[in-house]
Amino acid sequence: MKVETVINDSLNRLLGIKTEDSYTVEAVYYRGDTLCVSTQVGCPVRCAFCASGKNGLLRNMSAEEIIDQYRLAVKEGMKIKNIAFAGIGEPLLNWENVKKAFWYFKEKGLKCSFYTTGFPVKNLEELLQLPHSGVNISIHSVSTEKRKQIIPYGEPLEKIIQVLKKHLSNLSNRKRKMYNLAYLLISGVNDSKEELNKLADTALELGIGVSLLKFNEIEGIPYRTTTDEEYEEAFLFLKERGVRVTLSNRYRTRKIGGCGTLMVNRLHPETS
Ligand code: SF4
Repeated sequence: MKVETVINDSLNRLLGIKTEDSYTVEAVYYRGDTLCVSTQVGCPVRCAFCASGKNGLLRNMSAEEIIDQYRLAVKEGMKIKNIAFAGIGEPLLNWENVKKAFWYFKEKGLKCSFYTTGFPVKNLEELLQLPHSGVNISIHSVSTEKRKQIIPYGEPLEKIIQVLKKHLSNLSNRKRKMYNLAYLLISGVNDSKEELNKLADTALELGIGVSLLKFNEIEGIPYRTTTDEEYEEAFLFLKERGVRVTLSNRYRTRKIGGCGTLMVNRLHPETS
């Protein structure tokens, strides 16, 4: 693999990395210490808001390819302390290779966190047992029908909640802070008071927080982002219900490297 492009904005560095078979995947360096890595070329989950899964899965990445993103970033002079398995792909659907890469990073003394839709749950169960530094489980809706529209290929939420409940019941409050439900707020889709109320119920029942993400508008995806006021209102609503809520940080709301914006073959979309 080799670095094909580096796109900088004032906060993030987006690395376009070419594989031996001529796909380009992406990794993002942000906060001056974190590298977000891709785990698949494309993504079979095909979340409706996300550019990464637009064309489905092209292939899994090998453990070496996942690790190489880190090696190449280091060669480019990036100082890395944390790895986020949050780039292109669902880490649990390439689980054996992701685990190998995880243990490599751990041996290097790096902290590893995950974003996952929890699919398949048998691998989620295993992930929860690993010495990770944080797991965000993307749910994006608590209504079965709506969730199917946003995350077309995933596990039913009830199954995910069951696994989480079992795992969390043995953990101290301090350890529970490493877990969040990720909820990407999309205007007019999942931002009603009724939905947010159910989200609060779910988070409170599990005793974990909510990572409330702002949708980044992407060409060709027909959703609208919430205004800053709507976003703030949703935040306050959840807070007032007693939920621990975090908002998208500045790095996650950028056109370069923000949530859902990474893509395969950015410069050559015709080959995807
Ligand atoms: S959000 Fe994650 S799981 Fe969903 S399509 Fe994008 S990369 Fe895949």
